[in-house]
Parts: sequence; C-alpha cells; structure tokens
Amino acid sequence: MLSIQDLNVYYGSIHALKGVSLEVNEGEIVTLIGANGAGKSTLLKTLSGLLKPKEGTIHYQDSVISGKPAQSIVKLGVSQVPEGRRVFADMTVEENIELGAYLRKDKEEIGKDFKKVYSIFPRLYERRKQTAGTLSGGEQQMLAMGRAIMARPKLLLLDEPSMGLAPLMVKTIFETVKDISKAGTTILLVEQNAHIALSIADRGYVIETGRVILSGTAAELQASEEVKNAYLGGH
Ligand code: ATP
Repeated sequence: MLSIQDLNVYYGSIHALKGVSLEVNEGEIVTLIGANGAGKSTLLKTLSGLLKPKEGTIHYQDSVISGKPAQSIVKLGVSQVPEGRRVFADMTVEENIELGAYLRKDKEEIGKDFKKVYSIFPRLYERRKQTAGTLSGGEQQMLAMGRAIMARPKLLLLDEPSMGLAPLMVKTIFETVKDISKAGTTILLVEQNAHIALSIADRGYVIETGRVILSGTAAELQASEEVKNAYLGGH
C-alpha cells in the first residue's frame, strides 16, 4: 500500500533522513521506533507532503506521492495525527471533530462517522460542548484521533500517541488503535515507547540518526538483543 524507497530529506545542510526504505502493506499496523531526534517526525512530515525529499520515492497505492502537496495526499486517504495533538483549543470538541471532515460533502455519512467517533470515545461525547483546551492530555489525544477518523483514512499516520500520557490512558489509546485497525484502516505508528508499540504492531522498523538500522516482525524485534538493550530497558 505504501512503499518508501531510499528517501533522503534535509533541513538546509542537516541530513535528517539517510536512505530510508520501508513498506506498509494493506491492513497492517507497522511501527517506526526511534529515540528523540532519530527522524521519525521528519518521515511522517515527508509522507504527508509537508516536507519535500531531496531524493527517493514514496509510492502510495498506484501513485507516486513524494513531492505532491499535502492537500492532495489527504484526498488520497492519508491522514495524520500529529505529535503533541494540536487540537484547536478555543473550539469545542464537536467543532474539532467536524473539522476532520472538511474535505467531505457526504452529509449523511459524516453523521454516521460522528456517531462512530463518539462510540469509540464516549468521553468525547460527554465533553462535546466543551472547548478542547479544557480537555486532559489523554482526551486531547482521543480528540486528535477522532478528528483523523472523520477524514475516513485508508492509511492513518500516528505520531507518538503515547507521549505525555499516564500508563492507563496509553493502554486505552493503543486498544483504540487496534480497533481502528480491525475496522479496516492501515496504520503507521511512530513511537518512542517500543514496548507498547511492538505489543500491537505486526511489523516494525528501528530508526537511528536518520537511518533504518533494523526491521522485522514485532516478535523478532521484541526478541532482538539490540532492541531490548536500547529500547526496552534491557528486559
Ligand atoms: P522527536 O521524537 O524528538 O520528535 P524525531 O525522531 O521525530 O524526534 P525529527 O524531529 O524528525 O526526530 O528530527 C530529526 C533530525 O532533524 C534531528 O536531528 C533534528 O534536530 C533535525 N530537525 C528537525 N526539524 C528541524 C528543522 N525544522 N530544522 C532543522 N533541523 C531539524
């Protein structure tokens, strides 16, 4: 579904992605694991069209999307939940969710998807008239995911959904990621928390200073000494 070949991305003279290649097949949850500054957000920004690669190609379904503007990539069914959530603090929960559907005109179906988001996240239904800025961190993460679901993505890009959340909330969010996957959305999950990411992923890639250094099934990565030592606290 998604195939990245030999991607090189720069910020001026900083070489942030160095020949990154990876694949995501339809229906999979694939995780990209890496420490701070490894290049994870850079990869997601390049995928969603916010950064242009200097070299390399990104194929998505039947098209080459590298170099395309962000809006046309969203139209092809790729939707991103950015790091740090970025909800619109002064707008209500409901208005934030509605924004996710801004490219759609199918009113009835939008109504159905609203119900779906509220059934996945009953907390958002309870708080629908509240401004988003008054939500807890976990609730804002739910809201950012709800907004992304409204775009009906075929491919959902998640940037560190566990960041800054209490362990119980992380568990809830990751269970939801699994549910979204089961309902037919393919997922690329970027995480620093290798433990939780590998617990739900089918496969994964490990990125260090802009390079993919390891890849395999989630079970292979969980068993790898390198991953255990560097990302799973030696366990
Ligand atoms: P984090 O988890 O901290 O977000 P990350 O793995 O997502 O880390 P990136 O944000 O992709 O890492 O950063 C990769 C490299 O590119 C880092 O060395 C970072 O300092 C550099 N970088 C990121 N954004 C910029 C920018 N706008 N200008 C210059 N360098 C940048």
